Amino acid sequence: MELTNLSVIRGLCEKYGFEFSKTLGQNFLINSSVPARIAEGAEIDGKFVLEIGPGFGCLTKELCMRAKSVVSVEIDRSLLPVLSETLAECENLEIINDDILNVDIASLCEKYGESGVDVCANLPYYITTPIIMQLLEGGAPVRSVTVMVQKELAKRFVSPPGSPDYGAVTASVMYHTKPKLLFGVSAGSFYPAPNVDSAVIRLDVIPESERVKVRDKETFFRVIRSAFAMRRKTLVNNLSAGFSLSKSEASDILSSLSIPVSVRGEALGIEDFARISDKISENKSIAL
Ligand code: SAM
Repeated sequence: MELTNLSVIRGLCEKYGFEFSKTLGQNFLINSSVPARIAEGAEIDGKFVLEIGPGFGCLTKELCMRAKSVVSVEIDRSLLPVLSETLAECENLEIINDDILNVDIASLCEKYGESGVDVCANLPYYITTPIIMQLLEGGAPVRSVTVMVQKELAKRFVSPPGSPDYGAVTASVMYHTKPKLLFGVSAGSFYPAPNVDSAVIRLDVIPESERVKVRDKETFFRVIRSAFAMRRKTLVNNLSAGFSLSKSEASDILSSLSIPVSVRGEALGIEDFARISDKISENKSIAL
């Protein structure tokens, strides 16, 4: 069954009384080459894979053809009978009916006797950033994340410091991973078609021991959030607001690190944020 074929999709909708939900970000792929390209880009041959949102199963099928085993988490219960038919031949697949944000990924790995998992998905757009942040910051043993997201968001994930799309999310993604843009996908490749184009990105998780070193991660992420809290303001102003410092105290911190006091957050890379964060952590008089 060709699961990206529009008449097949319409037939399944009719047979199971399925209606697309905008709220759940249900835009299914109808471009037959894209699911295989995503699965290839994820490089998951023989691996343990977690998929988020199988829909009617077009990407799931490609993942099952390559991976050792696949766990696919779908929030919409009404898709389960459809998936029982479309993926009946996938013997290395388990489908879990749940919200991905409630799934304990570490326990899943344990259950499968795996030390880590590669995530691959055409993500629901309404919840893309929370899902990616939970995968990266939630402490689960995630090795890589290959996902379709809105093009604008994809640009933000892979932008270098100094570019207009660089922000707090980018800095956090760069701390955890090596991000890469794989390819673009036009809005017409989906049914129903969304208003914007998409892109597939791959985030290769950097092992903890190889990440930028910071004394205290909480302070580090607070520095990043503060730095981009008000984009038009200088870093001195944002740090002063974020850490209840006087402007001269914030300026002194930057000067002691040879960072210009007129700089804006978007000009700095994660190494600079780490240095600022360490300086703040070592200064006992700053209320953290
Ligand atoms: N994989 C299919 C494809 O490429 O055609 C469908 C992708 S569609 C963009 C997103 C899928 O995620 C839908 O099946 C939707 O029901 C599911 N979904 C939405 N929110 C979810 C959540 N919080 N947890 C798990 N699945 C979710």
